[in-house]
Amino acid sequence: PLPDASAEAQVRADDRAHVFHSWSAQALIDPLPIAAGEGSTFWDYEGNAFLDFSSQLVNLNLGHQHPDLVAAIQQQAGRLATIQPSMANDVRGELARRIAEVAPGDLDRVFFTNGGADANEYAVRMARAVTGRRKVLSMYRSYHGGTATAISLTGDPRRWPNEPSDGSVAHFLGPYPYRSSFHASSEAEETERALAHLEQVITLEGAGTIAAIILETIVGTNGVLVPPPGYLAGVRELCDRFGIVYIADEVMVGFGRVGEWFAVNAFGVVPDLITFAKGVNSGYVPLGGVVISQRIASHFDTVAFAGGLTYSGHPLACAAGVATFEVFERDGILDRVRDLGSRVVEPRLREIAAAHPSVGEVRGRGLFWAIELVRDRATREPFVPFNASGTDAAPMAAVAAACKQAGLWPFVHFNRLHVAPPLIIAEDELVRGLDIIDDALGIADGYVAG
Ligand code: PLP
Repeated sequence: PLPDASAEAQVRADDRAHVFHSWSAQALIDPLPIAAGEGSTFWDYEGNAFLDFSSQLVNLNLGHQHPDLVAAIQQQAGRLATIQPSMANDVRGELARRIAEVAPGDLDRVFFTNGGADANEYAVRMARAVTGRRKVLSMYRSYHGGTATAISLTGDPRRWPNEPSDGSVAHFLGPYPYRSSFHASSEAEETERALAHLEQVITLEGAGTIAAIILETIVGTNGVLVPPPGYLAGVRELCDRFGIVYIADEVMVGFGRVGEWFAVNAFGVVPDLITFAKGVNSGYVPLGGVVISQRIASHFDTVAFAGGLTYSGHPLACAAGVATFEVFERDGILDRVRDLGSRVVEPRLREIAAAHPSVGEVRGRGLFWAIELVRDRATREPFVPFNASGTDAAPMAAVAAACKQAGLWPFVHFNRLHVAPPLIIAEDELVRGLDIIDDALGIADGYVAG
């Protein structure tokens, strides 16, 4: 049963008067009051249902109100709601062990944080302590979080208002075959040239000054950019050659989004550190962390790690994480994601791409896809300009509005629609959502040149 619609006015009034929102000009927004959520759907107070194709902020991997996660949190709250991090705790230990069991190579220790940004902060801090170097390389077209170090690592416009950083980050270009910065005409060429570029950046920045290279295994918000074969292995090799720590940011792609516990598992590479958050417990209670290789962990055997958080390994969050593992295993979530991705999403998106002149490319893996829109397929001119806002962004806003009107909540970034539903989405819901996108793209086609 939905809450009384009369409650909506109070929710909106309190929000408008007192809640200060992320990444927004406060007077220019009108947040939608949400009454309830279940599975892949949430409802506003007027009873409108939205099929959530963005899993909130790509964190709601097991959907809204999953009974196992809710029960785990309730039981833990009844048992021991909190305990400080310097004490040992059963669910904290169990979650760390389960993460270690599915992590690649010798990554077998976990430092828990409150979310993704601080996971990246602490991963960088570990890399600096171990190498005695300070600089970090990260990609343009990346997002690593909103806190000081994480936002300076970020390679998208959210960094700009937060500069100057402390000057210890340099950015490089990653592979992006559809819009190759390297004039490559094949994936193999893209890999080779992107790696040559990265090696040049390392050399020019001074290999001996670089503590870490951080990259999203599949770039998320900035485009669902799946690395071409050999790229991540090449990054690993460069890191080994120059004594640089390889940090894989799996905050968005870890925990099933692409049908793997960790996306690096699909590429056969073993980073030194993996950061995670979001899908580890679907964000029911804030949780993130760093999975640490034995080599890095052993540095801190006799040297104290200089970092900590009051809520590191919070029992409510960890209980939801343990329940996540149980659900994934019992319900075969990883297989389900691979199956739905390859059998339902990919073929349907290829059909959509063929049918709509506004679609330049579709790409992705598992339940994580991007539809990149263009004004002109031949020139690949983006459907809206890079970092568009206001009237420049209006065509994308029109496509998004058409999706919402039809009952689908889309993920929109620049000139792309992303498909990132909860991993528990029913097949018929998935098909319905893709049909809605297909229809909404009729609006985008109206903007296509000629
Ligand atoms: N890293 C990646 C790849 C992300 O997508 C995000 C959030 O979207 C973050 C880090 C930051 O995570 P959080 O918002 O939990 O701090």
